Amino acid sequence: MDEARANKATCFTGSYYGMNVCFGGRDSVLRARGGTTWGNTFYSASKSDPRLQPLAFRNLMAHEGVHYRQWEMYGPDFMSLYLTAQANESYPILQGFGREGCYNRFEREANLRGYNVYGCSIR
Ligand SMILES: [Zn+2]
Repeated sequence: MDEARANKATCFTGSYYGMNVCFGGRDSVLRARGGTTWGNTFYSASKSDPRLQPLAFRNLMAHEGVHYRQWEMYGPDFMSLYLTAQANESYPILQGFGREGCYNRFEREANLRGYNVYGCSIR
């Protein structure tokens, strides 16, 4: 959350699976695509308060809450495990299709247990 505050983001906590949520401020790699969960903080890509779209936000947080549990399970190794999965499981299949979130094992789990943010066919 310090990184977000340094980028002038607004952060809040609430009943979002125990996570912090940050939005707005300067662009950051963590805010690419829909946003990124890093540890216990979700960095939303939204420029405005994501709570203004409550249904979409609740669904997104159900998905991101699974990523938070993955962080808890794997600890600091999680990001390298995630990126390795992304490289091995997504890239060869999906070059050019932009639906990598359907194949990475960590995204598949979040789609299945949380919310299917990418509209993937669930397997
Ligand atoms: Zn995800």
